Amino acid sequence: MIDLKETNVLQDARIFGTMSEFEHEQVMLCHDKATGLKAIIAIHNTVLGPGLGGTRFFNYTSESDALRDVLRLSRGMTYKAAISGLNLGGAKAVIIGDPKTLKSEGLFRKFGRFIENLNGKYITAEDVGTTTRDMEYISMETKHVVGLPEIKGGGGDPSPVTAYGVFMGMKASAKFVYGSDSLNGKTVAVQGIGKVGWHLVERLHAEGAKIYVSDINDAQLQKAASDFGAIVVDGNDLFDLNVDIFAPCAMGAILNTDTISRLKCSIVAGAANNQLEHEDEHGNMLKDRNIVYAPDFLINAGGLINVYSEHTGYNREIALSQAENIYDTTLEILKTAQKENTHSQKAAIKLAENRIAQMRSVKSTI
Ligand code: NAD
Repeated sequence: MIDLKETNVLQDARIFGTMSEFEHEQVMLCHDKATGLKAIIAIHNTVLGPGLGGTRFFNYTSESDALRDVLRLSRGMTYKAAISGLNLGGAKAVIIGDPKTLKSEGLFRKFGRFIENLNGKYITAEDVGTTTRDMEYISMETKHVVGLPEIKGGGGDPSPVTAYGVFMGMKASAKFVYGSDSLNGKTVAVQGIGKVGWHLVERLHAEGAKIYVSDINDAQLQKAASDFGAIVVDGNDLFDLNVDIFAPCAMGAILNTDTISRLKCSIVAGAANNQLEHEDEHGNMLKDRNIVYAPDFLINAGGLINVYSEHTGYNREIALSQAENIYDTTLEILKTAQKENTHSQKAAIKLAENRIAQMRSVKSTI
């Protein structure tokens, strides 16, 4: 018999303490010895609807790192869905292990069974380390999965819709700062021209913006220079450019004490998740420097909007028109933040929380 005391299984895990701090509803640990599956599904909030969030497959250094990540990410999904006006809650899953060696049909189908057991309370999708092929395996065991290939009735690559939402958020920020939302003649520095960054640059070019780009992929940079006349900048120099708008479209925590103090732009609006290294400290620092920040989880919600459309019967036109609403919401938040003398990320979170509170009371009324 296994002695739980000896395995120290719960030592220092503080699972309920952390769930209570972040206000999570449910956390499910999924294990299957035969396939090596070790997964955590965190359901943060389902007041607005089922919790939707991707499955991240990552070789975490510890199980508590994995738990912390899934709790943090699922909470972010609640806010993203709420502020986008979607009838969706927030959730996320992580599979622990090296995706290169651990992936198998059996593992994903077993994981699909665990999702099925939640009866639609959690809907999964692609994320870092998982692909549309993996989603197909999951879909063999549960219908609660989105992000399937177009040929299978899915929405395909969400990046064009994400880029459109970012573009709308950028235009709304321009309207707020310059009084006009035209980006014609504006200078924009885009960090990262991958899937989203590329589509964003395409739109900026069509609007007549002057574009600066940085990336670690040289071939992509050369292509942007020849297709859109973009000016290639060495990665680190991008922060010092005298431009109107800075668009982080590569990685998170890019807005920190060092980088913010170097920025000369009047707007930051990009696709990357969790751009502010420390939400309050760096949100305030941008505000104090008079740099308007378009909240990341609001303006990059096009990807979520795209998979939500898949959940309700995919239609790209509907997804794009829903992403267009990002313009109005961004403008509303920037005005509120100004009126309340607070930073825009905080104002955005407050708006999301207000919608959840309102819907909670709607649903409690018979
Ligand atoms: P991607 O991997 O296709 O593109 C990222 C690009 O950034 C790549 O070209 C990469 O070479 C580049 N890059 C990496 N490190 C860099 C560095 N130090 N400096 C400059 N460039 C660097 O990813 P993506 O799908 O375009 O997503 C971009 C960001 O937007 C990510 O933070 C992602 O989480 C977020 N996001 C994406 C979507 C979506 O629909 N794809 C939705 C919401 C949020």
